[in-house]
Amino acid sequence: MKPSHIEHIGIAVKNIEESIKFYEEILGLKCYAIEEVKDQKVKTAFFMVGQTKIELLESTDPEGPIGKFIEKKGEGVHHIAFAVNEINSQLKELTDKGINLIDKQSRKGAEGLDIAFIHPKSTGGVLMEICEHPIEK
Ligand code: ZN
Repeated sequence: MKPSHIEHIGIAVKNIEESIKFYEEILGLKCYAIEEVKDQKVKTAFFMVGQTKIELLESTDPEGPIGKFIEKKGEGVHHIAFAVNEINSQLKELTDKGINLIDKQSRKGAEGLDIAFIHPKSTGGVLMEICEHPIEK
């Protein structure tokens, strides 16, 4: 697959406004976007660190994926996202290799990226996302 870099690290938080304060005031990063992703039932906030982003995720619904994650595991690192090219052919290759995918086809994530998740069962317990900027195609 050969990802080009870590596109972002997703971190589940209970209160995004409180967390933004930590990233801005203590780490000295600037939140450059806040976006709600309705079909994922999350509010996201983004910070740039070099070419990698930090994506904070606050659930907008306790039944959503982040709501359930926090209930089970508490706040913390939720997923790591790798930047790839030709995401749908990567997904096909992963399927052919017997990797357990959450998304067999890419879908739209925050910032207009095409994204898909790989099941932690197949990755040693880490929820992995692969993503592609449509403009980089
Ligand atoms: Zn993500």
